Amino acid sequence: MVDATPPARVATPCLPLRGLGISLPRRWAESVVTTVTLAAHSLHCCDAAEGEWRLIAQSRAQPWIARDEPPAYTIVNPDGRGRAILTCDHASPVIPRRLGTLGLEAEDRLRHIAWDIGAADVARRLALALDSPLMLAGYSRLVVDCNRSLQMDDAFAMRSEDTEIPGNVGIDTREREERANAFYWPYHDALDRLVRARAGFVPVVICIHSFTPVYRGVSRPWHVGVNYRLDRRLAVLALAGLRADPRLAVVENEPYSVSFDGDYTLPVHAERRGLPHVLFEIRQDLIGTAAGVEAWSERLAALLGPALAHPSLARPGNPAPDVREPRYENGEMP
Ligand SMILES: [Zn+2]
Repeated sequence: MVDATPPARVATPCLPLRGLGISLPRRWAESVVTTVTLAAHSLHCCDAAEGEWRLIAQSRAQPWIARDEPPAYTIVNPDGRGRAILTCDHASPVIPRRLGTLGLEAEDRLRHIAWDIGAADVARRLALALDSPLMLAGYSRLVVDCNRSLQMDDAFAMRSEDTEIPGNVGIDTREREERANAFYWPYHDALDRLVRARAGFVPVVICIHSFTPVYRGVSRPWHVGVNYRLDRRLAVLALAGLRADPRLAVVENEPYSVSFDGDYTLPVHAERRGLPHVLFEIRQDLIGTAAGVEAWSERLAALLGPALAHPSLARPGNPAPDVREPRYENGEMP
């Protein structure tokens, strides 16, 4: 349990933070007289100017996911018999108590750097409309990014947009493995099982993401991006459906293009098997309200319903030749 009452102030010089896999926020370390105490399993830090104690981290003795914290993943509508399997890798901004705040202010922990605002709400409604299962990741991408290969540096981002993530600076191999085992692999292993369980028809993988309207000071005018790489089959149908509405600014492979370096879910679970797929990126300000969520989930359901029955999606396509994931290549879980 997190200590409810911060310990008494003790005038202690700076502390061995790295042993906890955490770094002190730079501005505190440089400009604020900081008093720290280590008590039991929790590390508190006091901003002397504000007199405010904060929980920064908990020790390795704490579980990665406590009993009262969310699971690593949730499957919505697991028994849905529709053709789609939906995924939302960046569904949640939650950071496990063991990691404290990751050194971030509360407002930063709710910004787009931590999650895809609105995406999970759209995906939930879409899953029900398509009678299809949906995988929701349970924790923030700042803990570990479920849409990155673990080989990539930004799987544990030390900086996102222009914000440093102090709790990810200097983490060692052991902590990376522990975070992956607690949050990343449970999500992907369950998704792998879900795909393999769709016996009798070719499932279609639909990834739901959202993007910030302004990135590094540059406005993004598009309403929705339709993203794909080698297999265009479903993307072509989605683009035609969205472009039938002249009010929408629809773009291909923006604000990000799909790659095996920059993505994991779509390449590994869909491209590697030759399954039809598409990745939607919806602008966050359009789905930041209940009305926006309803409008976009209904829009996507209206175009995907007929599209999923299109004959071009009846069979698997060619597996992507460049996507390798030894963990799943034998068809059985490790
Ligand atoms: Zn995303």
